[in-house]
Amino acid sequence: MNTDLAIIGGGPVGLSAALALQHPARRITVIEAGNLERPESGGLNARSIALAASSVQIFRALGIWSQIESEAAPIRHIHVSARGRWGITRLDAADYDLEALGYVVESTALGRCLFDAAAASPLVEIEQEAEFENLSQRDSVAIDYRKQGEPASCRHGWRWSPTARVRPRAVRSASALASSITARRWLFATSK
Ligand SMILES: Cc1cc2nc3c(=O)[nH]c(=O)nc-3n(C[C@H](O)[C@H](O)[C@H](O)COP(=O)(O)OP(=O)(O)OC[C@H]3O[C@@H](n4cnc5c(N)ncnc54)[C@H](O)[C@@H]3O)c2cc1C
Repeated sequence: MNTDLAIIGGGPVGLSAALALQHPARRITVIEAGNLERPESGGLNARSIALAASSVQIFRALGIWSQIESEAAPIRHIHVSARGRWGITRLDAADYDLEALGYVVESTALGRCLFDAAAASPLVEIEQEAEFENLSQRDSVAIDYRKQGEPASCRHGWRWSPTARVRPRAVRSASALASSITARRWLFATSK
């Protein structure tokens, strides 16, 4: 399989990046360990997360805010204080001529909106249940991952061929998780 840009991890950041980087001349592949169509509903996935106003602007620009907004609750007032301590800070959206300071949305709802948008794009391919294992660079970049836990022979099942035009420009990481995978979460490999 050839691609111009591979993103390891289909969380909010990975899927948003895939949507933002769409271009008719660019093939994007997201490699995600989990199943985004059937995300686990318990554990940390059951959390709600707050979206800052700047994140909302990004989703508006991507044309997916209306879907997310229907699942989100606006933050109109923020009260910051610590019990037993002096001082209180209060923020009110109206003071800044804003409809909301941000929004709260369930993590699974946000993920579903992002996944639906990415899955609907002809420019984005999502490899699910595909666990990234190794990155190497010789004539071209090769990404090894294990798809649905398939046997050892599949570990090297996806490699760019030596004749592929793909060349890495940069390798970047962006992640909320402090794991050894983190530093390699994002791979930008493009000939553009
Ligand atoms: C309790 C809690 C509350 C939070 N509240 C907020 C909040 O209010 N606002 C906020 O902005 N943030 C909040 N966060 C942080 C929030 O989770 C992150 O901002 C957000 O999830 C980061 O997105 P991400 O895509 O970088 O990482 P993640 O959401 O961690 O996604 C990483 C993805 O990579 C995949 N992956 C991992 N390893 C591999 C591999 N080897 N191969 C392929 N795929 C892999 C995972 O399956 C996952 O889908 C909170 C976090 C927690 C735990």
